[in-house]
Amino acid sequence: MTSVQTPVYDILLRGGHVIDPLNNVDGVRDVAVKEHAIAAVAPNLNPALAKKVIDVSGRYVTPGILDIHVHVYHTRAPEGAPEGLSVLADAFSFKSGVTTMVDTGTAGGRQLRHFKHTVIDRARTRIFAFVNIVDDGMIGDFEQDPRHFDAELAASVVEAYPEICVGIKTAHYWTHKPYDDLHTPWAAVDQAIKAAEMCGKPVMYDFWPRPERTYPDLLLKKMRPGDIHTHVFAQQFPIVDEHGRVYRHMFEARERGIIFDLGHGGGSFWFRNGARAITDGFVPDSISTDLHTGSMNATVGDMQTTMSKVLNMGVPLYDVIKLSTVNPAKEIGHPELGHLSPGACADVAVFDLRHGEFGFIDCGRARIVGDRKLECVFTLRGGDIVYDLGGLSAPLWTEAPPAYWRLPEA
Ligand SMILES: [Zn+2]
Repeated sequence: MTSVQTPVYDILLRGGHVIDPLNNVDGVRDVAVKEHAIAAVAPNLNPALAKKVIDVSGRYVTPGILDIHVHVYHTRAPEGAPEGLSVLADAFSFKSGVTTMVDTGTAGGRQLRHFKHTVIDRARTRIFAFVNIVDDGMIGDFEQDPRHFDAELAASVVEAYPEICVGIKTAHYWTHKPYDDLHTPWAAVDQAIKAAEMCGKPVMYDFWPRPERTYPDLLLKKMRPGDIHTHVFAQQFPIVDEHGRVYRHMFEARERGIIFDLGHGGGSFWFRNGARAITDGFVPDSISTDLHTGSMNATVGDMQTTMSKVLNMGVPLYDVIKLSTVNPAKEIGHPELGHLSPGACADVAVFDLRHGEFGFIDCGRARIVGDRKLECVFTLRGGDIVYDLGGLSAPLWTEAPPAYWRLPEA
């Protein structure tokens, strides 16, 4: 009698080097997927148990990457955002191993429902949102008018869409006008915190310090544990002194539970802050791109390029993956994401780590030259193959079955 084994796995990613920081995995493992979830991560799973076996030996297998600072509300009415600003999520996510994006405040409370129906519900990328404290979101002169800071509206929208909204965003309150009863130095920050306390979520801060509202005061007096400072290596923040030493207020803030996010963007990432801070032992808690139309070709490129910059600034690969998976998942209150535990949604990325000479730029158009670069070659979103341009999952055409002549379902 011969016994025929029935497949129990839909996909088996075989022989890759798995980095799954939540589970302390850093070595060669197979990853099995069944019914859109992770079924097993272990050495030498039986390939006969899988419908499809994909050889990923020599490559790195990670949880699907989270990018918690992007702008993807591309259907926003142009009169509200003359620069356009947003990019199409699916056009940038999967080719970089990203399976979850968080739009940070492109939509205010007035736009969230439209954003959901026209973008979030139609994208294959999982999209969450920080709701802007400004009722009309961004970008426009209305962001300078405190009469548009509506804590009640922002909090009520977060509570109405708990499956989408992960917090409150404040940004772009430059206070060029003289202060009066309405225009106070902390008006936007105070209203964002008020909204966050009403809905029980974190605030993400984009901030510009002034003598009357300093960065240490933001970190040590205003922000609450679990709140996120994005753009941490932007030029306007005192991060390192003239000797390259990280200021004490950075470590004091971290002890208070303040979260630091990279948030690269078109003008918010400088090696002269970031490289010195990392050399002196201050690594951000999460890596994010601040991807938008102004940064996509000028400075950022994509998430894998941003991760590669951090890698070449001296952060080990294992930690780079941690800062792009489990850490950001926790920061946005979604601990079910960012790892490969059995039962987790099968969001998985496969990277080549290329060796050579690679240049990377910052927002001042200065460069570093690194020796390694991450290049995504394959992405699963909920167990579905959403990126495989190299055909890791495809047969050679000379061996393809007759169905090869039909266009596969998208
Ligand atoms: Zn942004």
